[in-house]
Amino acid sequence: MGSAITQSDSAVVVGAGIVGSACALALAARGFSTTMVDPVVVRRAASWGNAGHIATEQVEPLASFSTIRSFPGRLFSRGGALGLPIGEMGAWLPFSLRLLAASRPARFAAGKAALGGALGEAIGAWRRLLTAAGEPDLLLEDGHFVLWQTKEAAASGRAHWEAVETGTATFRDVTPDEVAMLLRLTNRPPAGAIRFLGTGQIADLGLLAEVLDRRLGDLGGKQLCAGVRTIQTTGRRVSLQLDTGETLSPQVVVVAAGVASGRMLRALGYKVPIIAERGYHLQSAATDWPVDLPPVVFEDRSMIATRFRSGLRLASFVEFGRPDSPPDARKWARLRQHARELGLSLPEPVSQWMGARPTLPDYLPAIGQSRTADNLFYAFGHQHLGLTLAAVTGEAIGALAAGEPPAIELSGFDLERFQHRF
Ligand SMILES: Cc1cc2nc3c(=O)[nH]c(=O)nc-3n(C[C@H](O)[C@H](O)[C@H](O)COP(=O)(O)OP(=O)(O)OC[C@H]3O[C@@H](n4cnc5c(N)ncnc54)[C@H](O)[C@@H]3O)c2cc1C
Repeated sequence: MGSAITQSDSAVVVGAGIVGSACALALAARGFSTTMVDPVVVRRAASWGNAGHIATEQVEPLASFSTIRSFPGRLFSRGGALGLPIGEMGAWLPFSLRLLAASRPARFAAGKAALGGALGEAIGAWRRLLTAAGEPDLLLEDGHFVLWQTKEAAASGRAHWEAVETGTATFRDVTPDEVAMLLRLTNRPPAGAIRFLGTGQIADLGLLAEVLDRRLGDLGGKQLCAGVRTIQTTGRRVSLQLDTGETLSPQVVVVAAGVASGRMLRALGYKVPIIAERGYHLQSAATDWPVDLPPVVFEDRSMIATRFRSGLRLASFVEFGRPDSPPDARKWARLRQHARELGLSLPEPVSQWMGARPTLPDYLPAIGQSRTADNLFYAFGHQHLGLTLAAVTGEAIGALAAGEPPAIELSGFDLERFQHRF
């Protein structure tokens, strides 16, 4: 695309999750006549069921030998959060082999540099997006807490955070006031706790969805309730066939459909080794947790507790498999058990949710422009960091589509990396 965008320049974003929404807003703000296409009316995707944490500290990709070494001890059967269901082995075994390859030190170092660059801009991009939308207070920049239940876990947890890179985020000991406040949340006094600074939270994901929808409408953007059935190539351009029978041939197509992006792009000949990394949450509206409390990570239980305006959400689990397999109810039972044992305020009625992180084996997103179709862009595979990286991803896609250099380095997120390696 040239830099002179005209009224007739149209853009279609496939997927109305948080990444697609941020891309659509960036394109509309640049003057593209933008349509966001998604078949789902009630938002149940990972974008709306996640923990709301702006996790700028997670600079080190999870594709690492230390993650792999930790797998046996983290299995669900041993009380941990990791699920490798036997029936889903066809999905996770090939993924695991690629994860192993991606964890080699040189690839890990390159991934850390790429992720660090994007995470360094993540909070600034959210600030710009929400300020432009007139709702800056939806971004809370108060950091988060990490707690451990035993002395051993506290010692090894703290040593871990001291050893790894945390980008623009820092941490310190909790103050006596913070200790007193944390003691009111749980009947099991923590054996250790730290507070991160430079991280954040979205105050409420339901409100965020409303604000982004309204902003898109204000910018002249549209939403279409339809699914993309296939993407077809003619010469160096792609068009979209919808399940309504309609065909769309815009100047810009952005594939931002989470895990489903894999199927769409594979049909065009791309290798996209994406997996559904499923997580679970419980939520209670009637909690007595203070509404301004930053997220609390119970690290030795692999659980994060987030006080949204709409209630307290407990989220956990990484379960590798297919996105549409039935949920494993034992995961919700385990979350209830954690809440009971810790004495957390989670009164009934409690809602249950399961959804899929879109994860590529090197734990880096895919953000870029196709080499073979001039009007095709992609933004998916944001794994544990999709909320964190959504705004900065949207800005990058907006720049690419307008023919401008993006503010962050995207070479590490190029989909080409899977065409020759892995
Ligand atoms: C339990 C849990 C906790 C998490 N906590 C955090 C956190 O605290 N911080 C953080 O940064 N990240 C977190 N994440 C990760 C984050 O939620 C994801 O990375 C993010 O939601 C991915 O967003 P997305 O828009 O790419 O995909 P999705 O949210 O999956 O959205 C994809 C959209 O594409 C649509 N779609 C699918 N097929 C089609 C089609 N054929 N045509 C059109 N549209 C289609 C879907 O309907 C959906 O709306 C968490 C995830 C989980 C599961």
